[in-house]
Amino acid sequence: RGRAAHYDPQMRAGLETTETTTARRRMERRLRAAIEHGTLTVHYQPVVALPSGRVTGVEALARWHDPALGNVPPDQFIPLAEDTGLILDLGEWVLRAACREAARPAEGVDTGLTVAVNVSPVQLTQPGFVAVVLGALRDTGLAPHRLCLEITETAAISDLEVTASRLRELRSHGVGIALDDFGTGHSSLTMLRALPLTIVKIDRSFVENVARSAQDAVLVRMVIETAHTLGLEVCAEGIEDADQARQLVALGCDTAQGWYFGMPEPPSERLTQSLRATVGPDMFDAAGPAPV
Ligand code: C2E
Ligand code: MG
Ligand code: MG
Ligand code: MG
Repeated sequence: RGRAAHYDPQMRAGLETTETTTARRRMERRLRAAIEHGTLTVHYQPVVALPSGRVTGVEALARWHDPALGNVPPDQFIPLAEDTGLILDLGEWVLRAACREAARPAEGVDTGLTVAVNVSPVQLTQPGFVAVVLGALRDTGLAPHRLCLEITETAAISDLEVTASRLRELRSHGVGIALDDFGTGHSSLTMLRALPLTIVKIDRSFVENVARSAQDAVLVRMVIETAHTLGLEVCAEGIEDADQARQLVALGCDTAQGWYFGMPEPPSERLTQSLRATVGPDMFDAAGPAPV
C-alpha cells in the first residue's frame, strides 16, 4: 500500500528456536489473511465517569478468532503485527470499524459517547498517519471530538517532536489524545511534557492494590494531581472491585474502566443497553475497607 515499516527478522530470530519461528510464520500468514478478509472483530468496553457511574465512552479493542488457532489475545497478535508491518492495515481497519460504529446512531455504541482507539507507535511514525485518521473521520462522518487516540509510552517513538506535531494537527481538529498504560513506560514524564495530551490512563498495575497499599495510593494520587494540574483528565484502568472504585473516587479520579463496570463486548443490543445504563451509587457502597 505504498507505506514503509521497519522489520528486521534478525531482531527476534536470534532469540528463538526454529520451532517457534515456524509457529510465528504460520500465525503471521493467518493474521494477514484475517486482515485481508476483514474477519477480525472489535469489542467495546465502557468508560464511566466517577462517581456518577454514567458511561461517557468506550474503548475499542481488537479481537481475533482464528478457526485453527482459536482466540488469539491482542498481547500476542499486536506485537506480531507490529514486527511485520501488518499493524498498518490492522490499525486502520480497527480505526474505521470503531468510527463507523460510533457514528451510527441507535445501535451498538450510542451517539454522544467517545470512542477510544489504540494506536501503535509503528502507525505514528508513518508520514500518512494524520491523513489516515482524518480520512476515517470524513468517510464515517464521526465528529472528531468523539474520537480519542490512545498512545502507549514507548521507546519506539524515536522522534517525539515529529510525533507531537502530528498529534497537534489531529488535536486542532478536536481529536482527543490519551497516554495509555501510564507509569509503565520508559519516559512517562517526558511524554507527558512533549505530547499534546487530553487524558492520562493509569495502568492497571497501579490500580490493582490501590485500596490495600498506602504506597500505591500515594502514587496514584500523585499521578492524578499532576495530571489535573496540567489540565488533563485521568482514567483508571482495570477496576475489578468496589474497593478499588471507591478508592479512586476518594483520590479524585475522573473516569474508570474495568470488569467491575463492564467487560469488552461486541456491538449488540446488550451492549447498547449496558452503555445506556448508569452504574449507580450502589456500585460504590459495597462493604470493604475504608479508602487508604
Ligand atoms: P490497553 O489498551 O491497555 O487495553 C486494556 C486491556 O485491559 C484490554 O486487554 C482489556 O480487555 C483489559 N481489561 C479491561 N478491564 C480489565 C480488568 O478489569 N481487569 C483486567 N485484568 N483486564 C482488563 P486486551 O483487550 O487483551 O488488549 C491488550 C492490549 O492490546 C491493549 O491494552 C492494547 O495495548 C492492545 N490492543 C488491543 N487492541 C488494539 C488495537 O486495535 N490496536 C493496537 N495498536 N493495540 C491494541
Ligand atoms: Mg488502550
Ligand atoms: Mg492500558
Ligand atoms: Mg496495554
